[in-house]
Parts: sequence; C-alpha cells; structure tokens
Amino acid sequence: MEFKKCSRCGNFYVTEDDVCPNCKTKDALEFESFKSYVEKNGVQGNLYYMSNATGIAEKNVNRFMNYEGLTFKQSNKNNL
Ligand SMILES: [Zn+2]
Repeated sequence: MEFKKCSRCGNFYVTEDDVCPNCKTKDALEFESFKSYVEKNGVQGNLYYMSNATGIAEKNVNRFMNYEGLTFKQSNKNNL
C-alpha cells in the first residue's frame, strides 16, 4: 500500500486520486469551474492571472493545467 500526500491539505491517503477523500469534492468543483473558464476563454497569461480569474489557488491551477484529457487550445500558448 502506497501513501500519497494530498496536494491541497497535506494529509496522507491511499486512493488513486490526486487529492485525499476530504478534498475530493471541492477539488472536483474547482476543476469543473476551471475547465469551463478555459473552454470559454482559453489559457491566458500566467498562473497568477488564471488563479485570480478563476478564484482557484495557483498550485491547484498548475495541477489542473497538467491533467490529462484536457483539450486546451495550444495556439493560445504560442501567442504569449
Ligand atoms: Zn486533502
């Protein structure tokens, strides 16, 4: 059994998720709002900008950006 450290609260847990069971609901909600923001507006600026625009902590924005299965338009990045 392998322990993982929750990237939101720092608790240890053993599930396959990115965060502990306590944070899972909040994390899923934030991911949904992040996703719908990006679908509407694309990836803009930097982490700080995205964090302010979505109200999600920078470290979580950073994690969401790296999630597989997201289809961000890469052209936005090239324009920076
Ligand atoms: Zn947690």
